[in-house]
Amino acid sequence: MSAYPIEQHTYDVVVVGAGGAGLRATLGMAEQGLKTACVTKVFPTRSHTVAAQGGIAASLSNMGPDNWQWHMYDTVKGSDWLGDMDAMEYLTREAPKAVYELEHYGVPFSRTEDGKIYQRPFGGHTTEFGEGPPVQRTCAAADRTGHAMLHTLYGRSLKEKAEFYIEYFAIDLLMSDDGECTGVLAWKLDDGTLHQFNAKTVVLATGGYGRAFFSATSAHTCTGDGNGMAARAGLPLQDMEFVQFHPTGIYGAGCLITEGARGEGGYLTNSEGERFMERYAPTYKDLASRDVVSRCMTMEIREGRGVGPNKDHIHLHLNHLPPETLALRLPGISESARIFAGVDLNKEPIPVLPTVHYNMGGVPTNYWGEVLNADAENPTRTAPGLMAVGEAACASVHGANRLGSNSLIDLVVFGRAAAIRAGQLIDPNSANRESSKAAVEKAVERFDRLRNANGGTPTAELRLEMQTTMQADAAVFRTDKTLAEGVEKMTQVAAKMDDLKVTDRSLVWNSDLMETLELENLMPSALATIHGAEARKESRGAHAHEDYPDRDDVNWRKHSLAWVEGNQVRLDYRGVVTEPLTSLDEGGIDPKKIAPKARVY
Ligand SMILES: Cc1cc2nc3c(=O)[nH]c(=O)nc-3n(C[C@H](O)[C@H](O)[C@H](O)COP(=O)(O)OP(=O)(O)OC[C@H]3O[C@@H](n4cnc5c(N)ncnc54)[C@H](O)[C@@H]3O)c2cc1C
Repeated sequence: MSAYPIEQHTYDVVVVGAGGAGLRATLGMAEQGLKTACVTKVFPTRSHTVAAQGGIAASLSNMGPDNWQWHMYDTVKGSDWLGDMDAMEYLTREAPKAVYELEHYGVPFSRTEDGKIYQRPFGGHTTEFGEGPPVQRTCAAADRTGHAMLHTLYGRSLKEKAEFYIEYFAIDLLMSDDGECTGVLAWKLDDGTLHQFNAKTVVLATGGYGRAFFSATSAHTCTGDGNGMAARAGLPLQDMEFVQFHPTGIYGAGCLITEGARGEGGYLTNSEGERFMERYAPTYKDLASRDVVSRCMTMEIREGRGVGPNKDHIHLHLNHLPPETLALRLPGISESARIFAGVDLNKEPIPVLPTVHYNMGGVPTNYWGEVLNADAENPTRTAPGLMAVGEAACASVHGANRLGSNSLIDLVVFGRAAAIRAGQLIDPNSANRESSKAAVEKAVERFDRLRNANGGTPTAELRLEMQTTMQADAAVFRTDKTLAEGVEKMTQVAAKMDDLKVTDRSLVWNSDLMETLELENLMPSALATIHGAEARKESRGAHAHEDYPDRDDVNWRKHSLAWVEGNQVRLDYRGVVTEPLTSLDEGGIDPKKIAPKARVY
């Protein structure tokens, strides 16, 4: 088989992905004195994190009173009580530290008059355990926060002597027979060579799978490669049915207008010019949680109050704000609105529509980033040698719905936590375990099979079929009927993977083959999403089931686990962690505050 020569590389840690999560982990690992490589299919600063506009949440209290308990409460409520309490406490407690570290690394945050980090309001972030006014908690570098973070973290990682393998496409994890991860096989895109990275720990930081859907705010590179690799390694994916629709994707183009726009005073109107959010969410209005706003917009459109000739979208107004504020705080989206909607946002509203934006589900981990090879009986069993961080992972802090600006903080808090944990687990002086030859062969064989795929269905055609099916059947609102149809259609779509046709047989810059590998990675995520959604007979967070409109904590306050093999999916469940890390006596949050209750904004 190995007509493919394989170059060997050996490290303590190999991080796959150079977005915010991958870079923060890489930097932290290198700081721990571990020999660290970062393998990435795109140049680090082109990772999707670069597009993050609005900012990063942490209770710094720079603009008014705030504390981690309020942030935790908002995160718990945002998650619709599906997040794990230990992880949510860890996230919100560590957040200020992680942001100050970013500041000291050199992230050029926007500033207040007196030189502190500027913070803006964001949806679902409140004071007084949801009883007080909105809080300004989201730290921002204008509307280019992700861009600022990536550039800083990449520079810092180089300074710490982390080694980068750029434009290397990770194909598969190398797993031992007893379930330990010992490395990863990658394809160097510019010269076609294969590379075996041996590692004591592999960290998946490959981002989300927005591109399983037709209209998404995420980059074309967001193809859930880590999820695909984990699924092929026999590991479960968790809570995949929870897909966030962002209320304000630009109508048609799908690119994002940050929630920061509403944070700075923007508001939505229907065809009657009505600020309809006042009716649905009297307290927080346009700054209610994303799933709530997306559903309200969809309801307005369904009831015939959409704008435009087809009454199929909504208007976002910023034209009442002073031009100086727009220029200072939202320069990037002024440009996006001009280029992608042809709108001068000083004068006209922007046409917007709920658009797929974020994947709450992913590879399950504990709050140290260690991957869980979990099932109902073994809810905390780890997969040795494997970690996951960022949008590829499910820690789970976002539960059924993520709050805006809680992803960037998730990237850095858990990227950092993974490094701290690896520092404890890995002995830099020990030898690497040898990777199983069979595992390498298996990965090469799959690669070779796809390279020579000679069926009747071009990759782009099958991808489109998957994307339109997911868009139609795993939408903002779901029913038994659409979900059952979705499961059936996706089973057929996935079966066509055996009939793929790859036209380009070369190994150098073969985008046809790369997109095929990406499609094979997207497929398990799409299948797990639609199966998980079909099985979940309740409404919670982003999963709005019209036949089961209420949340059902008795039967469904549990994480879905999905094992995907070919076009088949097996589901199981594990309990939500309901205990926070710290008791009330030791300075923790009052358990009464985070007990499940109705979720109103
Ligand atoms: C337009 C937009 C705006 C957003 N704004 C905000 C915001 O303001 N605040 C907020 O909190 N969240 C925001 N989010 C969400 C947040 O930005 C993302 O969840 C987050 O950036 C994901 O980071 P990540 O490091 O997990 O992955 P990414 O940044 O997507 O990086 C993935 C990395 O993995 C690498 N990779 C993937 N597959 C492979 C492979 N097979 N081989 C090798 N390398 C691979 C890629 O090269 C890349 O480096 C936004 C998201 C979008 C799409």
